[in-house]
Amino acid sequence: MGRSSKDKRDIYYRLAKEEGWRARSAFKLLQLDQEFSLFHGVSRAVDLCAAPGSWSQVLSRKLSEEVKIVAVDLQAMAPLPGVTQIQGDITKVSTAQEIIRHFEGRPADLVVCDGAPDVTGLHDVDEYIQAQLLLAALNITTHVLKPGGAFVAKIFRGKDVTLLYSQLKIFFSSVTCAKPRSSRNSSIEAFVVCQSYSPPEGYVPNMSNPLLDHCYDVDFNQLEGPNRVVVPFLACGDLSAFDSDRSYPLQLDASKQYQYTPPTQPPIRPPYQQACQLRKTNQLAREDAPAL
Ligand code: SAM
Repeated sequence: MGRSSKDKRDIYYRLAKEEGWRARSAFKLLQLDQEFSLFHGVSRAVDLCAAPGSWSQVLSRKLSEEVKIVAVDLQAMAPLPGVTQIQGDITKVSTAQEIIRHFEGRPADLVVCDGAPDVTGLHDVDEYIQAQLLLAALNITTHVLKPGGAFVAKIFRGKDVTLLYSQLKIFFSSVTCAKPRSSRNSSIEAFVVCQSYSPPEGYVPNMSNPLLDHCYDVDFNQLEGPNRVVVPFLACGDLSAFDSDRSYPLQLDASKQYQYTPPTQPPIRPPYQQACQLRKTNQLAREDAPAL
């Protein structure tokens, strides 16, 4: 693939580089905010699963300078002005405690999570792992979010999505499933926008996952009446916004010459680094190549 072919194929990838975002996913959060005014009145925000950091960039560009932003990821992330980084696991209670320490004991107004495990290609497995990660994000959120606060997280709209909606509805008065224009239609990815955090009375935050562990043999899609949770589904982002499933010509503005823009922040320690080096020297997949 030539250097510019991805620019042509993916308009949001190209715009991200032009506007200095570390990843195209920045547009997803921007479009979610357009619809839900997520950033209004926020003075403490948490970005879970933040690397390489485009959502943290959005938070730091859109929120005022006094706002405290904490970004958490398993992987190291290049520094960002105004963002405190924790290299840690969102499934650990120690990570929740560290977040609270950065906020000097105060709870967050907004928690966002664009977390995704490495995709295996086996749809059922990928959906299950994504659901687990979302529940881990919900668990850590119950430790750090203020009552009335908001939580936004990536979700895969697979066959057991109703179970996840039911669990989120236990903690939030309003749950909407939103699909930003910049999220490809071909992807089962969407985002749950959960507003007005109101945990059940007496709820004590913990990191276990009792609902999922004990109820996975229940077919939540078959529940009826008041037991079935149906959340609104909303396409968001201006309809005139670019369509993430379309290819656009390289010269959108005919009066200008196309210029290739390098990525804003290349990965700092990608696991595929050695493979790239071997490919450059034409040694990849050769029997005499050094072992990876
Ligand atoms: N929102 C990011 C951005 O805009 O740049 C992109 C996030 S990327 C799609 C998903 C991230 O989830 C990866 O960086 C991965 O390391 C992180 N992740 C997955 N499981 C995690 C966990 N248990 N704890 C912390 N981070 C995790």
